[in-house]
Amino acid sequence: MLDRDGVINHDSPDYIKHADEWYPIDGSIDAIAKLSQAGIVVCIATNQAGIGRGLFTEEDLDGIHKRLLKEVNAAGGTITHIAFCPHHPDERCQCRKPAPGMLIQLGRVTGLSIAGQPFVGDSEKDVEAANAAGSMPIIVRTGNGVKTARKYPRVQAFDDLAAFADCVITNRT
Ligand SMILES: [Mg+2]
Ligand SMILES: [Zn+2]
Repeated sequence: MLDRDGVINHDSPDYIKHADEWYPIDGSIDAIAKLSQAGIVVCIATNQAGIGRGLFTEEDLDGIHKRLLKEVNAAGGTITHIAFCPHHPDERCQCRKPAPGMLIQLGRVTGLSIAGQPFVGDSEKDVEAANAAGSMPIIVRTGNGVKTARKYPRVQAFDDLAAFADCVITNRT
């Protein structure tokens, strides 16, 4: 399970509002393809409060995710499901990370147990959501990850998603 912004694509303080503003981090698309080809189910849980703030719509988000899926598919990978939270932080929903709602949703949709499964993120909210869901937090040092890795020295950290995927695949074979 993966976070999106700062893990798969470059994040922006102004939010990623349109497919034209979406740029993958070097190696991340190939990393997803490698994980898929190793038989690992890849899915995403992403906070998208920009929708709740009225900065973009669910249709815009759909356009971004079509572009993401197209690039992953072109590289030979699969993303099984993308869970997103469209809510404003003030709505206090159960899905916005650090709440575990989206991770639980991913378990339900994929039919797989999320207990102990890696959730790769770059922010404190990702680590807290993984812990709340009983999953295994993993930090990548892209996006906010350098700061987050410093805050959680006991959580395993990788330079980027490509390094994480290489490690998973090496340990499997
Ligand atoms: Mg992130
Ligand atoms: Zn939500």
